[in-house]
Amino acid sequence: MKKIIVIVLIAILVVGFFWFDLNQLLTLNGLKDGLVQFEEWRVSEPILVGAAFLLLYVAVAALSLPGAAVMTLAAGALFGVLWGTVIVSFASSIGATAAFLASRYLLRDSVQNRFGERLKPLNDGISSEGAFYLFTLRLVPVFPFFLINLLMGLTPIRAVTFYWVSQVGMLAGTLVYVNAGTQIAQLDSLAGILSPALLASFALLGLFPLIAKKLLAVIKARRVYANYKKPAYFDRNLIVIGAGAGGLVTAYIAAAVKAKVTLIEAHKMGGDCLNYGCIPSKALIKSAKLAHQMRQANHYGLERTEPGFSFRQVMQRVHDVIAQVEPHDSIERYEGLGVEVIQGYAKLIDPWTVEIQRNDGEIQRLTSRAVVLATGAKPFVPPLPGINEVGYVTSDTLWDDFAQLEHAPKRLVVLGGGPIGCELAHAMARLGSQVVQVERGERIMAREDEEVSQLASQALKRDGVTILTSHDAVRCEKQGDKKILVVSHQGEEKMIEFDVLLCAVGREARLHGYGLEALGINTHRTIVTNDYLETLYPNIFAAGDVAGPYQFTHTAAHQAWYAAVNALFGQFKKFRVDYRVIPWTTFIDPEVARVGLNEQEAKEKGIAYEVTRYDLDDLDRAIADGAAHGFVKVLTAPGKDRILGVTIVGEHGGDLLAEFVLAMKHGLGLNKILGTIHAYPTWAEANKYAAGEWKRAHAPQRVLAWLEKYHSWRRGRDH
Ligand SMILES: Cc1cc2nc3c(=O)[nH]c(=O)nc-3n(C[C@H](O)[C@H](O)[C@H](O)COP(=O)(O)OP(=O)(O)OC[C@H]3O[C@@H](n4cnc5c(N)ncnc54)[C@H](O)[C@@H]3O)c2cc1C
Repeated sequence: MKKIIVIVLIAILVVGFFWFDLNQLLTLNGLKDGLVQFEEWRVSEPILVGAAFLLLYVAVAALSLPGAAVMTLAAGALFGVLWGTVIVSFASSIGATAAFLASRYLLRDSVQNRFGERLKPLNDGISSEGAFYLFTLRLVPVFPFFLINLLMGLTPIRAVTFYWVSQVGMLAGTLVYVNAGTQIAQLDSLAGILSPALLASFALLGLFPLIAKKLLAVIKARRVYANYKKPAYFDRNLIVIGAGAGGLVTAYIAAAVKAKVTLIEAHKMGGDCLNYGCIPSKALIKSAKLAHQMRQANHYGLERTEPGFSFRQVMQRVHDVIAQVEPHDSIERYEGLGVEVIQGYAKLIDPWTVEIQRNDGEIQRLTSRAVVLATGAKPFVPPLPGINEVGYVTSDTLWDDFAQLEHAPKRLVVLGGGPIGCELAHAMARLGSQVVQVERGERIMAREDEEVSQLASQALKRDGVTILTSHDAVRCEKQGDKKILVVSHQGEEKMIEFDVLLCAVGREARLHGYGLEALGINTHRTIVTNDYLETLYPNIFAAGDVAGPYQFTHTAAHQAWYAAVNALFGQFKKFRVDYRVIPWTTFIDPEVARVGLNEQEAKEKGIAYEVTRYDLDDLDRAIADGAAHGFVKVLTAPGKDRILGVTIVGEHGGDLLAEFVLAMKHGLGLNKILGTIHAYPTWAEANKYAAGEWKRAHAPQRVLAWLEKYHSWRRGRDH
């Protein structure tokens, strides 16, 4: 009830404000018009006018009404720099605190209850260094004044802290604004606009955020580096830890721009992608697909046959493929490019010093101006009781563990219904394993739209995978020689007997053992970085799986550019990572490829969209290839051809997607794709036909009706 009274009261005040046209007063024109009148009052009743102004300002700030900035300029015009600053400083802080308290009282509990988990990092940040965090927002107002007041009310920061930090943090900005206001007062002719004093005041107004930002960066840097002694000189410009996709590309770029760079790798050059991830999995998938096609040969007028093969040889091919790609990521290649490569385990000692436990036994210390952490991720193994007793494989170990098997494991349980689980389940089923895939959620590939999950599920099932969704793995048991996974489904337990258990329930960033804890570098599932990929220490960067939010080779490489450039040239210009157009593909058969929004995400984010769909069973080339299934689904902004996202399910989906990735990246709409010649008969034509579907649905009906009349008229009577 009390809350309702407060809400009603606030609503009355806000309505009254607009009803009496008070907002007119708070525009620059209104200000100029009323200035003379105010000036007269102020001279006759200085204290009364000062107090009235302060109260009005408090009300505007407390009610989050527009006009605080104009009032600050007005304060300068009316009261001069000193008194203007004093009045606004108190009025804005008191008003802001009132808005803060109202937001806290009215909204905090419900918002925290609903979004508590998502607000956790913000809450943690505020609890640990709330005052400084607020200070930065006040000094560099990246959010509007009123929004900061309301948002801060939702966090655990204390009201007293909020008040004084606001007052101190806003003081410099207030002074700059009030000073600009004093110049407006003196503006009495057009020529005045060009007066040096006015121009200087406004230049200061514009420059203030930049200066404040620089100042903050210096203060922050001083705080984090306070406990360390910076070396007088550095051995390297850049040290990169980890030689996976992220580290290799970072080192490559650094060497290309002639920096002295050292790349440290503890294990295998090429990291996960080459040795345990993309490359071996795609090599395995290729053999599996061929086996499948042999079984399906009768669909192509050939005799179908059950492929006879040694699984060991399939695995040998996988290792051969790795060996063939290896030179791309090898020490020799990188040394040839000008990168110093050290084989060993690296550890941060201080923000500029890295200690390397070299594989040859030596310990070496190097200093560097900047460090990039590209230490990757590793498979997460769920802590199921009994899992160590029955044993398991992961994407890290299966390539070696399976290498000597003459046959694929007879009964394989795949834990996890994400992309890696699906790819491996599908391939292994095609290579002869009886695969049971266990997924806790309601569907596999849950990030994709529901119809995509359904198609993926049908494809896997068709090739013999038993998919158990809404099944939770509970524990593992060993009964004599038998290995059993116990799963729970709708409150009942079931036993699944297996020969091999493959854990594919996600990958966790590598965060321990190389100095993050000792340096206090923040982690929250991944290393926490800002938009420039800087960690807590602005000279230490993170890229790739260890930084998230994506776990792909191409995103690691994409981030690497930002990490390298910001690390080496950040003192001149820093670049924010651009995550707007990120594609990915899951290589089941048919492939599932996506860029940008799908329907599920658009709904979650409340983004309006239209769907255009082109089914591949219509595509001549797909029919000729005997693979006429799947679709191209494009989300566009309503009434426009601007692409918001694309999902393709179908053969070559990953390759087809590239055209849409390019279009989105460079702001090309569906009309442009439609206007581009695509060779016939290719799979790529599917993209053009999808664009054509969109065009058909957006044909200008009125114009067409007129055209029909026109043509009819041209033909003469009654044709
Ligand atoms: C089965 C599977 C299939 C995949 N398929 C695809 C795919 O099709 N497409 C795709 O884009 N992505 C795929 N991925 C994901 C891809 O492999 C990763 O996103 C990519 O490898 C991340 O690169 P990175 O450089 O961040 O880390 P990593 O490749 O993991 O490299 C990190 C390196 O750092 C080293 N290191 C760690 N700590 C230290 C230290 N203290 N000192 C020295 N060295 C250290 C590690 O030894 C490692 O070599 C797949 C992954 C798996 C597991």
